[in-house]
Amino acid sequence: MQKTIISVKNLQKRYGTFEAVKGISFDVYEGEIFGLLGPNGAGKSTTLEIIETLREKTGGDVIVDGMNLDTEPDNIKRIIGVQLQSSGFYPGLTLIELIYLFGGLYNRQVKPMELLHLVNLEDKAKSKYKELSGGQKQRFSIATTLINQPKIVFLDEPTTGLDPQARRNLWELIKNIRSKGATVIITTHYMDEAEQLCDRIAILDEGKIIALASPDKLIDDLVATGFERPKQVKAANLEDVFISLTGKEIREE
Ligand code: ADP
Ligand code: MG
Repeated sequence: MQKTIISVKNLQKRYGTFEAVKGISFDVYEGEIFGLLGPNGAGKSTTLEIIETLREKTGGDVIVDGMNLDTEPDNIKRIIGVQLQSSGFYPGLTLIELIYLFGGLYNRQVKPMELLHLVNLEDKAKSKYKELSGGQKQRFSIATTLINQPKIVFLDEPTTGLDPQARRNLWELIKNIRSKGATVIITTHYMDEAEQLCDRIAILDEGKIIALASPDKLIDDLVATGFERPKQVKAANLEDVFISLTGKEIREE
């Protein structure tokens, strides 16, 4: 039996008269990587930010690790790690300085080099945030979600805009975070990413959940309806060619 760490029931969000989230329900199990998938505008970020205590909901119930979002938002904040958009970092500070700054905010002892080692950025320790490449910024922002030693890590489209090497590298990092015992909730509109990473996914469309299961189960269900790919799939795809030609190593540094 899986233990539920997040329970969302009939969650609703209206912006004025526009209904962005239309009464969705789902559970996230402790220790899994749970994906919220969907096209732009589906309501992924809205849902995530409500659970993160950063946005007000207009209806429904959310329980995080036994705590009700309505009554204990501050206690929920203590056990979660939230990935900030890049605008959340002082561009002129070095990575070490930023980590100490976050450590102070969370009232945590930090070991900057250990944290930077986790995300493969030790050699950038004394670089300023603004000097990092896109992939390095993403990795650093994931590192900062770990400063609070969270039970649950929230990642909103962490690999959008990255090249294939940097994406694969981030997938490894996210799996590492999970293997250390954290629960991870990730949003993405990349199906390959969801298939690679997520134990279970909810597909969100226009504010409603239209499917929720493991990637395997969803594919099997589709095949069971008689679905066949129109074209024989080759044993490799263009991304495989690209990776095979240019290598798996991160190239941005
Ligand atoms: P996703 O992350 O899946 O792309 P969002 O949760 O950001 O979707 O947005 C869902 C819908 O809500 C979109 O139609 C978006 O335009 C709308 N929306 C998001 N934030 C606001 C806001 N602050 N005010 C009004 N509408 C918003
Ligand atoms: Mg979004």
